[in-house]
Amino acid sequence: MTDLRIAIVGFGKIARDQHVGAIAATAGAALAAVASRNASLSNLPHFATIEELLHKGPPIDAVSLCTPPQVRRAQAAAALAAGKHVMLEKPPGTGVAELDPLIAMAADAKRTLFATWHSRYAPAVEPAREWLATRRIRSVHINWKEDVRVWHPGQAWIWEPGGLGVFDPGINALSILTRILPKSVFVTAAELAFPANRQAPIAANLTLTDIGDTPITAEFDFRQTGPQSWDIVVETDQGRMSLSRGGRVMAVDGKIISEAPDEEYRELYRRFVVLAATGASDVDLAPLRLVADSFLLGERTIVEPFMD
Ligand code: NAP
Repeated sequence: MTDLRIAIVGFGKIARDQHVGAIAATAGAALAAVASRNASLSNLPHFATIEELLHKGPPIDAVSLCTPPQVRRAQAAAALAAGKHVMLEKPPGTGVAELDPLIAMAADAKRTLFATWHSRYAPAVEPAREWLATRRIRSVHINWKEDVRVWHPGQAWIWEPGGLGVFDPGINALSILTRILPKSVFVTAAELAFPANRQAPIAANLTLTDIGDTPITAEFDFRQTGPQSWDIVVETDQGRMSLSRGGRVMAVDGKIISEAPDEEYRELYRRFVVLAATGASDVDLAPLRLVADSFLLGERTIVEPFMD
C-alpha cells in the first residue's frame, strides 16, 4: 500500500506540537507539503494558501486542517472539491450546520471527512466507557480549567466570534463525556462569563442531563494558573470513577485502573489512514451541538477585560 500523502494546512502550535510527529510515527502516512501564510518546514514544499497548494503543489491525497475554526470550512470545501481526503482539527466548525454540505460533498466524492476529537483517543477513555457501560450512573462532574496564556499564547482568533473561548478546551471534555456515557446528554442551563473586551467566554458553568435525569455539571475556566485541571468524576452504584489528566488516568475509588502514555495524535492518524483507504467519513457533531446549545441557553455576565 502506498503512503497517504498529507499536507498540513495552518502551521501553528498544534501542527508543530503534535501533527508533524504523529504523521512521522504513523505507518502508511507521509507528510508531503505545508500550506501556511507565514510558517514553513525545512525540506518540504511550502505554499502560502491552500489554493496554491491544490493548484501548484506536489501530488497529495489528503489535507490536515490545523487552522483556526473560522477559516476551516472554506478550506475543507476546496480540498474536497479537489478530490482530497480531509482531516479537521477540533472543533469541526464555527457552527453546526456548516458541516452538512461538507459531509454531503465527502459522500458524493467518496472522500474521507474526519472530524477529529483528539481527547477521545486519550488512553483511559475507552476503559472508562467500558467500565461505565455496566454501572448505574448517579452523577457526573467535569472540572476543566487551564491557563489560556500557556496553551493559546497570543491567539487572537480564540476570542473572536467562532473561536469558542473557553469552549475550545471545554469541547474536549464534552467529546469525552459524549463518548463514555451510555445515554445521550443535553444542556439545560449555562452561565457564560465574557471579558468586557472579548467576543468569546473566558469561563462557563454548564448544567446538563440525560433522559434519566442524571445530574451532570461542568466547570470550564481559562483563568487557571498553577496546576491545570482536566478531570471528569462519575459517581456510580459501584463507586466513584475518575478520569484525570485529560483522559490519561482512570481510577475507581482512588485506585488506578488504567494509565498509559499519551498517543492521541498517533491514534488520530492511524484512524485517518484506515478511513481514507475506503473513503469513509467520521463526523460526530455531538460535542459541538452541546457547545451551540450552551450559547443558545447561556446567561451572560461581563467580567474584567482579558489582556494577553
Ligand atoms: P495557532 O497556533 O494559532 O495556529 C493556527 C495557524 O493557522 C496559525 O499559526 C496561522 O499560520 C494559520 N492561520 C491563522 N489564521 C488564519 C487565517 N485567517 N487564514 C489562514 N490561516 C490562518 O492555533 P493552534 O493552537 O495550532 O490551534 C489550531 C486548531 O487546533 C484549533 O482549532 C485548536 O482548537 C486546535 N487544537 C489546539 C491545541 C493547542 O494546544 N493549542 C490542542 C488541540 C487542538 P500562518 O500565519 O502561517 O498562516
